[in-house]
Amino acid sequence: MPTVYLKPGKEESLKRFHPWVFSGAIATLEGKPDEGDVVDVYTSRREFIAKGHYQIGSIAVRVLSFKQDERIDREFWMRKLRAAYLMRKAIGVAGNPTNNTYRLLHGEGDNLPGLVVDIYARTAVMQAHSAGMHVCRMEIAEALSEVMKEDIDNIYYKSETTLPFKADLFPENGFLKGGGTDNIAVEYGLKFHIDWLKGQKTGFFVDQRENRRLLEHYAGGRSVLNMFCYTGGFSVYAMRGGARLVHSVDSSAKAIDLTNRNVELNFPGDERHTAFAEDAFKYLDKIDDRYDLIVLDPPAFAKHRDALRNALQGYRKLNVKAFEKIRPGGILFTFSCSQAVSRDNFRTAVFTAAAMSGRNVRILHQLTQPADHPVNIYHPEGEYLKGLVLYVE
Ligand code: SAH
Repeated sequence: MPTVYLKPGKEESLKRFHPWVFSGAIATLEGKPDEGDVVDVYTSRREFIAKGHYQIGSIAVRVLSFKQDERIDREFWMRKLRAAYLMRKAIGVAGNPTNNTYRLLHGEGDNLPGLVVDIYARTAVMQAHSAGMHVCRMEIAEALSEVMKEDIDNIYYKSETTLPFKADLFPENGFLKGGGTDNIAVEYGLKFHIDWLKGQKTGFFVDQRENRRLLEHYAGGRSVLNMFCYTGGFSVYAMRGGARLVHSVDSSAKAIDLTNRNVELNFPGDERHTAFAEDAFKYLDKIDDRYDLIVLDPPAFAKHRDALRNALQGYRKLNVKAFEKIRPGGILFTFSCSQAVSRDNFRTAVFTAAAMSGRNVRILHQLTQPADHPVNIYHPEGEYLKGLVLYVE
């Protein structure tokens, strides 16, 4: 097997089960691995420490196992997928009659860096973020089909935009199993059209499920503004929660169409809802103080560390506008899904925005990703979603 030898001392993070080897930690590479190959990782003292998928880039090895004798084969994928499935059942998102929308497998959080699997009714959408997972996709799909045989009919592979394009992998999106066209999934009793063919991520933002449910709790009698609505998830929950009026805004006309279809699917002919295809910043500039519940769930402003400063400025500017416009007694749900923005960074940006607006602001809830997007305790970077629910006087 191709082998990576680390520089002296560079095994420390692996000893603490951190699942990445950075390229700078590598002394020598033997056996000429191709991108996506499984490699063994040895310390400078020539002791085995881990094995994982090799790739050219800043993260050179994504660890699959810390055991020398563990083979990466069909049985391996089945063990991991079964463990992930049992966990989702244990926390009540799988095998739940009111919910068939959940993340079955969350990369590092389920000890499989580079792989994501979301379940939408009887379809699994599988996404590779590393060359290794792409290379193994057929074996993984077979294992998935075996583990989930009672629960799914289709496996759709969607990795055209998530793989490193330099690796010349030429991924094609398509069904690895089945090919069903029924794309309606149920999240806590609400129905959603899932666009896994063209939608963002795997077609839906599964990670906001619990936060949407919390919003439902606060929506009664309020005028709700859902900014960056995408599929209209927060809007549909607000309607079920008894909102007086719900306005959804997204700059993408496709997102607005999807939002309208999802509202219609759950609340046909309900006149409380209107959607606007507009830029969020411009929309906030022109409105008066008609809303008393605002959701700000923008796309990741910082995809990388270098973009951090601009991202924080972006969050600050956006939140100032919401603080300026929200009615007294209003509730603001504000989020950041940038991995490079820490909980403290985000809180400081929102704090600064609150101070600039001069409003009296209290934190009601501090939100994060749900339990089906678990954080591997040895990989704190996995905690990417941050949210604050604020009471604005
Ligand atoms: N809240 C959504 C997910 C938001 S994803 C959910 O719960 O599913 C981010 C969305 O922001 C995308 O749909 C994208 O089209 C939209 N977007 C990006 N930039 C925007 C801008 N400047 N103004 C309005 N919408 C924008």
